[in-house]
Amino acid sequence: MAEALAYFRGGYVPLADANVNITTHALHYGTAVFEGIRGNWNETKGEMHIFRAKDHYERLLQGCKIMLLDIPYSADELMDITIELLKRTGYREDVYIRPIAYKSEELVANLMLHKLSSDFALIIVPFGAYIKADGAIRCCTSSWRRIDDTVIPSRVKIAGHYVNSILAKTEAVLGGFDEAIFMNQDGSVSEGSGENIFVVSKGEIHTPLVSENNLTGITRDCAWTLAERELDIKIVERRIRRSELYLADEVFLTGTAAHITPVGELDNRPIGNGGIGPITQKLRDLYLNLIRGDNPKYEHWTTVVTPGRG
Ligand code: PMP
Repeated sequence: MAEALAYFRGGYVPLADANVNITTHALHYGTAVFEGIRGNWNETKGEMHIFRAKDHYERLLQGCKIMLLDIPYSADELMDITIELLKRTGYREDVYIRPIAYKSEELVANLMLHKLSSDFALIIVPFGAYIKADGAIRCCTSSWRRIDDTVIPSRVKIAGHYVNSILAKTEAVLGGFDEAIFMNQDGSVSEGSGENIFVVSKGEIHTPLVSENNLTGITRDCAWTLAERELDIKIVERRIRRSELYLADEVFLTGTAAHITPVGELDNRPIGNGGIGPITQKLRDLYLNLIRGDNPKYEHWTTVVTPGRG
């Protein structure tokens, strides 16, 4: 039987007991940094494959550095805690692993980061498809612009800046779309509300530079690696304009939650033939296979955990 547990204040506790006080700084000001990691259940092997967790923890620690969050763990120690918690929960299905480093001081009227205590917590919950399991999705250009690195650093997952993504995603879904695509203040393409974006045109794959206020996506890096190594297509990183998306042969999004998701329509204009394009299809198939540890060439991207055993 699986059990909902958390790593909280240095120990493994029932999730129901992992609670903070209402005065906690992070709750008022978004002064936290988090990650989203997938644990992919391989039914045939009876194994959980945690995907690129060390890379996620390195990004978490980068966020901690920016936010002056002192947590007493290295990326390797965070890996150990994750493996231990996962074993204790005993989940035998796909899970979402959510570490959060946060300003834990129980003090509300304070607009500084230094001198405030920090803490770390980890939760693991069952998690299936995030957007649509199959088929291309319908997107809109968000009326909200992407938060700029000059406002709040956007390359790491700072809790407060997710208000930007949440406004965009809510607007998109209430408007009947699946996902929102952000433009920067200057109108160049940034990313989705929770995904990086790629454009396929005349056999080339282009993506906005990370300096276009994107998260430094780990799935972005996977798509990049797979395109170069498996499809022999070099990725071009450059400034992309909105109208290029309308005229692209294919557009796809990448993210831990969304995997590799084809965009079939943007602002009521079909992209390509409106379905999943051939390059997106190949990358998606490769990706969905390797995240469960079924491709020996990419085994180094997963950490195997067997529930309940050492
Ligand atoms: N951009 C944003 C804003 C995100 O929240 C995410 C999801 N973490 C991504 C891109 C994709 O990043 P990753 O592939 O590392 O999950």
